[in-house]
Amino acid sequence: AGPFLSVRDLQVRFRTEDGIVKAVNNLTFDLERGKTLGIVGESGSGKSVSNLAVMGLHNPRNTTIEGSVTLDGKDLLHASQRDLEKLRGNKMAMIFQDALAALSPYYTIGRQIAEPFMKHTGASKKEGRERAIEMLRRVGIPQPQTRVDDFPHQFSGGMRQRAMIAMALVCDPELLIADEPTTALDVTVQAQIVDLLKDLQQESGTSIIFITHDLGVIREIADDVLVMYAGRAVERGTMREVLKSSQHPYGWGLLSSIPRINASVDIPLMPIPGTPPSLLNPPSGCAFNPRCTYKELVPGDRCVTERPPLEMANGHLSACHLTAEQKQSILTEQILPR
Ligand code: SF4
Ligand code: MG
Repeated sequence: AGPFLSVRDLQVRFRTEDGIVKAVNNLTFDLERGKTLGIVGESGSGKSVSNLAVMGLHNPRNTTIEGSVTLDGKDLLHASQRDLEKLRGNKMAMIFQDALAALSPYYTIGRQIAEPFMKHTGASKKEGRERAIEMLRRVGIPQPQTRVDDFPHQFSGGMRQRAMIAMALVCDPELLIADEPTTALDVTVQAQIVDLLKDLQQESGTSIIFITHDLGVIREIADDVLVMYAGRAVERGTMREVLKSSQHPYGWGLLSSIPRINASVDIPLMPIPGTPPSLLNPPSGCAFNPRCTYKELVPGDRCVTERPPLEMANGHLSACHLTAEQKQSILTEQILPR
C-alpha cells in the first residue's frame, strides 16, 4: 500500500474579476499514518487553499483543481460530494484558527460535539451526550458533566479551541487538518494546545497536517515540514533537517523568526522584510526574488529569469539557485549562530 495521504502535482486556480489566481502549483507530498506534517508559510502562500482542496471544501464554481489526492488509496479529487461528506468528520476532520466561527452560538457545546457523532454512528441522544462529556474530558475541560451544557460564549478562547478539537475528533478521524489552530491564542495556551494534539495523536494514531506561519509552533510536533511560498513548495524535509540545515533563504527567514525561549541573551526576532507577492502576477523566476538578500550571489539574472526546481541539496528538497557550498557556508556562518 502507498502512503496514507498522497498529494501529487496539486494545482489550484481561482477565477476572479481581475484574472486567474494561481493559488497552488505542482504541490507534492505524502503523509504516513500517525505522523505529523507541518505546512509553513505566510498568508496567501497556498497552505490553507491546498488543504481545503484535499478536503473537497473549495468552491467548485470558481475553482479548478488538477493533480491527484488519495487518502488510504481513495481518490479524493474525483469523489462525489456525498462520499466526501461521509469522509469529512468521520475519516478526516479539520480545525481552524477561529473556534467562534466554527461553533454556533445557539447550541450548547455538548450538542455540537455530539451531532457529528450521532450522524456518523447512529448513536442516540443520550449516547451522544455521554460521548460529548468523554470528549470534553479528553481535551482537558474541567467538570465536563456540567460544562457540556454551556454555550460557546461561556468558554474562554483556549477552552473553545479545545471544544473545537473535541468536535473534530469525536468520530476518531484518521486525518486531522489543523489550520493555524493556535494563532489567536496566547503563547502559553498555544503550547498547551500543541501538547494536547500530540497526546491525542499518541492515543489514537491520527495523522495530522498542522498549518502555521510560525515554524516555532510546530517544532515539537511535526515529523516533516513543507515550506510554501507563493503557492509552491520551496523546501521539504524532516523537521530536524530543516531546523538544523534549511537550504532556502525563505526558510532562513522562518528560522530567524523563531523566539529563542532558552537563549541566555535576548536575541531580537528577525521578521522577513517585504510582503508576499500577488498570485495574479507572480514575480518571474524565483517568486522570492523581490525579497531575497542573497540573489546577487547567483550569477547572471537567473533568480529573475529562471524558476529554481525543487531538488535535493544537502539532504532534503529545496528550490534555490544558490550552490550547495554557498548555502552551507551562509547557514553555518550567518544563520545558525543568530
Ligand atoms: Fe534567493 Fe535566488 Fe535562491 Fe530565490 S533562487 S531564494 S532569489 S537566491
Ligand atoms: Mg490560511
